[in-house]
Amino acid sequence: MNLINSKIPNKRPFNLDEIRSDFPILQRLVNGKPLVYLDNAATTQKPDFVIEAIKHYYDFENANIHRGLHFLSEVATEAYETARLKVKEFLNALSASEIIFVRGTTEAINLIASTMEKAKMLKPNDEVIITNMEHHANIVPWQLICGEKGIKLRVIPINDDGELILDNFEDMFNEKTKLVSVVHISNSLGTINPVEKIISISHKYNVPVLLDGAQAVSHQNVDVQKLDCDFYTFSGHKLYGPTGIGVLYGKTKFLDSLPPYQGGGDMIRTVTFDKTTFNDLPHKFEAGTPHISGAIALAIAVNYLNAFDLNDIIQHENKLLKYATKELLKIDGLRIIGTAKDKAPVISFTIDGVHPYDVGTLLNNDGIAIRTGHHCTQPIMDRFKIPATARVSMAFYNTIYEIDILINSLRKTISILK
Ligand code: PMP
Repeated sequence: MNLINSKIPNKRPFNLDEIRSDFPILQRLVNGKPLVYLDNAATTQKPDFVIEAIKHYYDFENANIHRGLHFLSEVATEAYETARLKVKEFLNALSASEIIFVRGTTEAINLIASTMEKAKMLKPNDEVIITNMEHHANIVPWQLICGEKGIKLRVIPINDDGELILDNFEDMFNEKTKLVSVVHISNSLGTINPVEKIISISHKYNVPVLLDGAQAVSHQNVDVQKLDCDFYTFSGHKLYGPTGIGVLYGKTKFLDSLPPYQGGGDMIRTVTFDKTTFNDLPHKFEAGTPHISGAIALAIAVNYLNAFDLNDIIQHENKLLKYATKELLKIDGLRIIGTAKDKAPVISFTIDGVHPYDVGTLLNNDGIAIRTGHHCTQPIMDRFKIPATARVSMAFYNTIYEIDILINSLRKTISILK
């Protein structure tokens, strides 16, 4: 059986009860209470189709891929490469060879930083434009390259609503600007960035654009050809797929111009002790045995999501966002950090006189999972002059009832802490 064409129906109505029953973990109790999982920006839960796909792979198809002549190797290779095709369709890439399987968004950005440096496409004192709302995964890799001099990060500022201020964006470009690398949707603020505008301006200056899509792929349609971005990255685990697998999309002309990231098996064509020649795309960037079951299960997650009408998912998530925002704002002293007009279902907040960590701890007693801290975006905390926030991040399986549980528990928590 080809796993990619598994039991998932082609089309499914948006039925919340049915959707929730697809996710075994949502049925469990935490601290004696039904789990209310509102930490989806950190990682999403997995439907049983995805969990079963992993078991099925190891039960029936496990073998190493590529060049194996035996039955299982052919089956595993076909499933892995079909998974790549599925991701190609999901992002609407031009070719499957533009889809590189990596560990996740972090590895994808490190791959680009490191190989651009190796190719001398990024040299000491060159400039990369990022934003004030980047995840550390889109800050630190740029700081790790080009030795002591390093490269210069030019940072697009944000306003008090957590929206990019693009008024002076064009002034940031000069002959040293080599890349614009921005987050598509902010994991802390929920802001959906105007990436089309950023891409068209950057291309006017012949500068390629990398989009960090870690938070975007589960909340909206992503079409890399329509966007015309040059690189796009995401992590499988934020798209209802497994951890340890992610995707780097790159336009062929850029991927071709970059050297391999790591050396080893599969990424070579010939090896002698004097010289090695490299394999074609995408294998040039996939040294060693990849996360085969992860790629297959990620494709199953994509299949699972594709069975729904994306508009139903977006509509439901918007309803959750609006309702949670309205109810949270009724709480005295609560301030939402990130009030952009265009937002994904992520709400960061602070409460006067109450530490976010205490909020998170007490909500946990009621079985409610939210995240507290800087969310790997310390520059955002500096921008808003706060040490941390509490963050509620929703997915399409969350319910209005769960938001009510959150609000009640939050009110109780505040009365205990104040
Ligand atoms: N970018 C953003 C916007 C994220 O939200 C995350 C994960 N929180 C990352 C990058 C890093 O993703 P990963 O840890 O899966 O590599």
